[in-house]
Amino acid sequence: MYIDPHIHVTSRTTDDYEAMRKAGIVAIIEPAFWLGQPRTEVGSFKDYFSSLVGWERFRAKQFGIVHYCTMGLNSKEANNVPLAEEVMELLPLFVGKEGVVAIGEIGYDDQTPAEDRFYRLQLELAKEVNLPVLIHTPHRDKRKGTTKSMDVSEEHGLDPRMVIVDHNNEETAKEVLDRGYWAGFTIYPHTKMGSERMVEIVRQYGPERIIVDSAADWGVSDPLAVPKTAALMRKMGIPEEHIRLVCYQNALTAYAQSGQMEEMDWLKPDPIDQRQRQFGNSVLRGGQSPKVEGEASDIVEN
Ligand SMILES: [Zn+2]
Repeated sequence: MYIDPHIHVTSRTTDDYEAMRKAGIVAIIEPAFWLGQPRTEVGSFKDYFSSLVGWERFRAKQFGIVHYCTMGLNSKEANNVPLAEEVMELLPLFVGKEGVVAIGEIGYDDQTPAEDRFYRLQLELAKEVNLPVLIHTPHRDKRKGTTKSMDVSEEHGLDPRMVIVDHNNEETAKEVLDRGYWAGFTIYPHTKMGSERMVEIVRQYGPERIIVDSAADWGVSDPLAVPKTAALMRKMGIPEEHIRLVCYQNALTAYAQSGQMEEMDWLKPDPIDQRQRQFGNSVLRGGQSPKVEGEASDIVEN
């Protein structure tokens, strides 16, 4: 069993869902982020947040995967200050919804004053509602941005145990782990942070507080990055227990602190029934046969 604790499945296909389930992924976390282009209205945030706790959660379930999400204003869009202010008013309406396991992904992109302001406001929100925080570390000037993310989080009195710092690499891993944070590693295909280097990181630091994810989205990314990395670790002689920790248990332990995620959610799931509808919609298109678990006959056409 695997958990992919960072994947933007809204932008993936049903083929991906099927392949993920087949590869052993039982649960996923979808952090709120940006759409590839800037939003122009607060209403698009509202509908997006609604889809994360609504349609996408339903869609994942139709393929046997339990879907959780995080809520937040991403760092890029924090730079549109008037819009960001409106989003801050919206967020409290969503953070308490079922399946919301953290505030995130928040933090720095270009490390601007506006990003800093809305990062801090959201840290305060996380404290208020007692949710973990998922930090997106910048891709440019990563080391400085990562250190600053943790400094500011501590300034606001957050316990490092409640904070997952994601998109780490060899440059940032040591400091993040030494300071007591959860350290996420995003495995992007064809980049420097690939599965091979992940194996080396687990070898070097051990499995404690290390979390592997795919961050798969609409870009070149791999929704099977977690099971593939686990397979490579196995091949390279990483102990099975260490693989279980970094590809499953640590994410569960970190995000279960929200009170919204527990193993029984997928150990005792409702059977898959693709006849189900949400807002009047099903995942099937004209004439397709629904997958219905535990029921060989009595299949209703959709
Ligand atoms: Zn992301």
